[in-house]
Amino acid sequence: MATQEITAPNMDRFWNDDLAAADPDIAAAIDKELARQRDKIELIASENIASKAVLEAAGSVFTNKYAEGYPGKRYYGGCDYADVVENLAIERACELFDCNFANVQPNSGSQMNQAVFLALLQPGDTFMGLDLNSGGHLTHGSPVNMSGKWFNPVAYGVRKDSEEIDMDEVMAIAKEHKPKLIIAGGTAYSRIWDWEAFRKVADEVGAYLMVDMSHISGLVAGGAHPSPFPHADVVTSTTHKSLRGPRSGIILWNDEKYTKPINMAVFPGMQGGPLMHIVAAKAVAFREALRPDFKDYAHAVVENARALAASIEDNGLRIVSGGTDNHSMLVDLTPMDVTGKAAEKGLDRAYLTCNKNGIPFDTRSPFVTSGIRLGTPAGTTRGFGPEEFRKIGAMIVQVVEGLSRNGDDGDAEVEERIRREVGELCAGFPVYPGM
Ligand SMILES: *Cc1c(COP(=O)(O)O)cnc(C)c1O
Repeated sequence: MATQEITAPNMDRFWNDDLAAADPDIAAAIDKELARQRDKIELIASENIASKAVLEAAGSVFTNKYAEGYPGKRYYGGCDYADVVENLAIERACELFDCNFANVQPNSGSQMNQAVFLALLQPGDTFMGLDLNSGGHLTHGSPVNMSGKWFNPVAYGVRKDSEEIDMDEVMAIAKEHKPKLIIAGGTAYSRIWDWEAFRKVADEVGAYLMVDMSHISGLVAGGAHPSPFPHADVVTSTTHKSLRGPRSGIILWNDEKYTKPINMAVFPGMQGGPLMHIVAAKAVAFREALRPDFKDYAHAVVENARALAASIEDNGLRIVSGGTDNHSMLVDLTPMDVTGKAAEKGLDRAYLTCNKNGIPFDTRSPFVTSGIRLGTPAGTTRGFGPEEFRKIGAMIVQVVEGLSRNGDDGDAEVEERIRREVGELCAGFPVYPGM
């Protein structure tokens, strides 16, 4: 019988092959993704472009390290440098957002919110969140999400006339349903949040106030949106949106009474070992956000969003609620009778990347929608200013007009011309030029 020859693993290749040699398929897909990020204009409001330093930390040897537990109290040996990294991430997060405590271990935005639910609620408890159709997030009570399946969500929405949140209505709903937790914050709401008014409602009914500032935390860090502290009991945030860090989440609070329940909820309640390479990348991003130039970036994001919204309105489409105070906006496509689905595809053909999004009181399904959501963080990071965003607004409307004239196939000639114009614009603002 033939015996299988046992070959020694090729350790020289293991230590020295770069990705292109080790895995050409994945390397090629990454190269194409880099080209896509360079050559198209990124308008997805929840995306950004992280620095080279953030990417380097995220791709570091901390990938190898288990560090269950917290700094100084780990369940594994060899955590000296993991402790250095996590302590710095915590210190910097507290300094950046001016609060007393931080948990930097949540692996994602969804997990950070689940951890707060685990810390403060029991299954079946009533909580309040912004309605999905008014710009709320999946984890704030969607029927298909755990928050909506295992808890009892009550939604507040935006007014039909102003398309803004009505704090009298929030108060009335809270008094009627007596939620144990109220969530302020959303994914597609472009107006300033009145945290103080939410605090009043929470106090009136004896609820915890949780602010999920995922979308706007970069603006809060840079002083371009009011801080939820000292009003919120607990604040959660993703770190990869306007904050411009790695894909991840954080939980922040001021009162020591929340420390044990929140830390216990994250680990061992929700997660095992933290992603220490991502914790390291978060620390790097927080340091970047503490630099004075981050304030300039945050204010530029808002100024650019105003320029984009104004340009789209000047060219004939409607912005939900009549404008924006932050990084994002919803465009109502119904004046041109175009769906969000068709617009997302047409704009992508023209190298403008965005997502379809329901508008308040949308009559179309979430798979079709009557709107698109746009955001300025990624474009601002690559260096676009109001002049570029005004051009982008005009391009968007031209693509939508083509869809309005010709149906879902759009106007190929217009799309071809805009692809060229996008190319010219992008050439002046390179992304990762050294890579
Ligand atoms: C993006 C987002 C989340 C979830 O983040 P993931 O990392 O995608 O799980 C939670 N809440 C809000 C408000 C968000 O915008």
